[in-house]
Amino acid sequence: MLFELNQKEAELFSGDLLVYFIRESKDRAVPCSSKPVRRALKRVWKSGDFKGSKGQTFLFYPPVSSKKITACRVLAVGLGNVADAIDNNALREQIRSAAGTAVQQATELKVRSMMAVLPEKTGLADTEVAECLTEGLILGSYCFDKYKSTKEGEDERTAIEAFSLQVGRLNFEAASEGMNLGKSAAQAACQARDMANEPGNAWQPVQFAEFAWNVARKHKLSCEIIEKDAMQKLGMGGILGVNQGSAQPPKLVILKYEGGSKNTDPTLMLVGKGLTFDSGGISLKPGAGMQDMKYDMCGGAAVICAMQAVAQERPKGINVVALVPSTENLPASTALKPGDIISHYGGKTSEIINTDAEGRLILADALAYGIETYSPDAVIDLATLTGAVIVGLGHHRTGLMATDDNLAEQILAAGDRAGEPLWRLPLGPEYSEQIKSQVADIKNSGGRGAGTITAGAYLQEFVGDTPWAHLD
Ligand code: MN
Ligand code: ZN
Repeated sequence: MLFELNQKEAELFSGDLLVYFIRESKDRAVPCSSKPVRRALKRVWKSGDFKGSKGQTFLFYPPVSSKKITACRVLAVGLGNVADAIDNNALREQIRSAAGTAVQQATELKVRSMMAVLPEKTGLADTEVAECLTEGLILGSYCFDKYKSTKEGEDERTAIEAFSLQVGRLNFEAASEGMNLGKSAAQAACQARDMANEPGNAWQPVQFAEFAWNVARKHKLSCEIIEKDAMQKLGMGGILGVNQGSAQPPKLVILKYEGGSKNTDPTLMLVGKGLTFDSGGISLKPGAGMQDMKYDMCGGAAVICAMQAVAQERPKGINVVALVPSTENLPASTALKPGDIISHYGGKTSEIINTDAEGRLILADALAYGIETYSPDAVIDLATLTGAVIVGLGHHRTGLMATDDNLAEQILAAGDRAGEPLWRLPLGPEYSEQIKSQVADIKNSGGRGAGTITAGAYLQEFVGDTPWAHLD
């Protein structure tokens, strides 16, 4: 996919679709920088049928003889009311979502090349406008259809091949910087979506390892894979226990970025759950919806792809290390059983109450091992850990638990900025009490109450004093 920023006049663009973003306004004049477009929108604007509201679009075909606009189609997309936005984060989301609307229409029209003119007077810095617009266009054009065969005569989905941003009245340097930021973040997100959408028979621990090697080679990161025999020597009973029912060997994938000195600059450690298919194990899940359990590796995908974005951006003065423990969770005669006791990396023992509470088992080893090996200054783990978090927050927010307020604040702010909001839940001794076991140090289920928090409390057992945040 081609994605570029250019300065040449939008009216001279001769591709399939030219997009203008129009902010909502009661003004008599259409708030658009292009004179021919203002003229073309005059009637629809005056009638009130299109007033730049959020989600509104107006498509028109300039006359073939027109020398003023050479694009095949022009689409006006409503930005919504930017003057009343409560803050910059709301504005950022407005721009992303308008870009998403544009790209959806473009897909329906089977457009191959489109130009989007960067909107002015949105209240945001030029960098941010370009960043968010780029994110919206790339994230909105995402589709996963590699396993669909097209029958003859049937309509093929046309992917947009070339996007260009027209700088409009914004500063070129700033817009270019914003576009590049948006591009690396959104492309990393789409990459993670691709991994997630791969079925459980095509995306297994070995694929995580191969992908990490390729990222490392391409972007000069260091990569290490801890294999099953090494796990046995290290005593990683959590990952090994969950893996017992699977024919696929487990992997602990490690990627390292050094953007600063090991001694003086901070190290951030990321951990992502890479459970490539979760059947629940012996505590088998119900059949309905089980196909979605291929998504139980989304934390791992997010972490690996975040490393790809870090490697592209190459931030200075910080080191980042990422760990993805990866395995399947399947029932077999060899599988882990309720009542079994395992021993984690570092020696803490755990009684298995429910084999479907497996994510915490593999994360515990990765957290304990990573913290001991890399002495990070902060740790963030990402996991599709509990169904309980969806009961509590729906699909609208990510649950956040943390032992450090400053780290929690930074993550909450980053989530708001990215349009992926979080909500902090508590931790505390009363929750840790729920996972005390009669026969081992801890147990892997704290019962029905506070299911998300007791999962967090389980992980908390393995992070010691290191500032840590857990995203569920
Ligand atoms: Mn599970
Ligand atoms: Zn799981």
